[in-house]
Amino acid sequence: MNRKTCIVIGAPVQDGTGRLGCDMGPSAFRAAGIGPALQSLGYQVLDRGNLSATARPARSHPNPAIRSLAEIAGWTETLAAEVHEASTLGMPIVLGGDHSLAAGTLSGHARHAAEAGRKLFVLWLDAHPDLHTLESTESGNLHGVPMAYALGLPGFSGYFPPLSTPLDPARVCMMGLRSVDPAERRRLVELGIRVHDMRAVDENGVGTLLRDFLDEVARQDGILHVSLDVDFLDPDIAPGVGTTVPGGATFREAHLIMEMLHDCGRVTSLDLVELNPFLDDRGRTARLLVDLTASLMGRSVLDRPTRSF
Ligand code: MG
Ligand code: MG
Repeated sequence: MNRKTCIVIGAPVQDGTGRLGCDMGPSAFRAAGIGPALQSLGYQVLDRGNLSATARPARSHPNPAIRSLAEIAGWTETLAAEVHEASTLGMPIVLGGDHSLAAGTLSGHARHAAEAGRKLFVLWLDAHPDLHTLESTESGNLHGVPMAYALGLPGFSGYFPPLSTPLDPARVCMMGLRSVDPAERRRLVELGIRVHDMRAVDENGVGTLLRDFLDEVARQDGILHVSLDVDFLDPDIAPGVGTTVPGGATFREAHLIMEMLHDCGRVTSLDLVELNPFLDDRGRTARLLVDLTASLMGRSVLDRPTRSF
């Protein structure tokens, strides 16, 4: 992959949530300057525009709560193909859209990693593990299932596209969790996923926790996918999301994570998800996400212009 090229992919997915608005996410990221921010750091930016989902036949599921199954399965197919291809050209940066899109980005990037003979690790920054299966989801909102699908958990066959390369749960690290359903909690333990909830963050600091994980990625010469859900951040600094959970990451914690990710030099793809511009405060959350992306891509704090909000 060409490390100096970013492939920006708009994924206006909103059917995975219970409310409208996430389809405006890609436009908000562009209006907040994601392209120029990357260019100013020396990257060539290829913006693929906004995708639309492959049409898939509707199929009902025994779980009556599930909504928009065909739509999300279609997005998964579209995004897996797009991210797989983009991964050979540069670093895919997927502008969501709700978190259901990670079913496609994770599976597409995992397939690329397998073909390149690399071990794929995932850093999941989210208040939620999104580890429901089609059977266990009670809300029926499919932004709660992408991690379960990407890990190859049972029950997706015939409903979602076939998964060529499941993630290894031993290579997944989740940080910021503070809203976990009982079925997800059991699964996290069974799978042995590395989990750092907000209590662990408070007790140890994000730097210590993240360094352990990044050291492991380096030991195994891995590559890293980062999936950043807006609700990872505290709602006070990032109000533009439909699933606010109090007690999220602070501005400094989030920037420190991004700066450490840049220093590790192993991040090969990124999801920016769950931004709902309809709920945002004059673009504040979109701008914060763009600034965090810039930190991840190499902007240092000393370069930050002073400005008023
Ligand atoms: Mg999520
Ligand atoms: Mg979330």
